Amino acid sequence: MNKTARICILMVLCMQTFGSAFAEPEPEIQLKELADGVWMHVSSYVYPDGKTLSSNGLIVKDGVELTLVDTAWGELKTVALIKAIKLEIDLPITRAVVTHAHSDRAAGVDVLESHGVKVFSHPLTQRITIEHGLPVPNHALDALAERGASIKLGKLTVFYPGPAHAMDNLMVWLPEEKILFGGCAVRSGASTSAGNTSHGDKASWIKVMNRVGKQYHSATLVIPGHGEPGGIDLIEHTSDLVKAASDTRT
Ligand SMILES: [Zn+2]
Repeated sequence: MNKTARICILMVLCMQTFGSAFAEPEPEIQLKELADGVWMHVSSYVYPDGKTLSSNGLIVKDGVELTLVDTAWGELKTVALIKAIKLEIDLPITRAVVTHAHSDRAAGVDVLESHGVKVFSHPLTQRITIEHGLPVPNHALDALAERGASIKLGKLTVFYPGPAHAMDNLMVWLPEEKILFGGCAVRSGASTSAGNTSHGDKASWIKVMNRVGKQYHSATLVIPGHGEPGGIDLIEHTSDLVKAASDTRT
């Protein structure tokens, strides 16, 4: 065996032995293309006990600009999200919609605003973020105050289905792609509980799922706040989980 062959074998053995130690770390932010000009952004939050939970938002290309739905989960993760968008899409983010006043949706609001992004929310979200010490979106969508109201924001239809997971939760519909971003008011197929119900309204949530399921039955993809996207059946699945939570009064 010549010297080159011996070196090659040694390298292969080294890679087999130490390969996992040198494996690329999971990227902080994942951008998953769902349709032409539509991506889901996924960030992860690590709890002090080490438990990790991922969180979903959307990026929608509108002409030569991008609209973001929800920040990443945390300020630093939102900085990483802006970097990932620059690297992979390289178009300016001009607008963002925050779908309710929880940190997985709104923690990065100041980061976005410092980059010149106009951040929109339900008027209640402004009030709740102030009360909870979270960064406050600078533009309230007053036209969405009433349940059932919807507005166009470029390619996005933003609507307020009524109180569900949170009193202020918004949803986004992309009519061209038939993608429904349900946010935390929709649970993933793998979810076995309704999640955090302490800031919402379970009775209203069940009614909201009923209405949304009927109105957006043509959706080809439904994006929950956490976990994998699915079909319109996620709406009924969520409704079942909320009913179970109501029965056990959790
Ligand atoms: Zn939430």
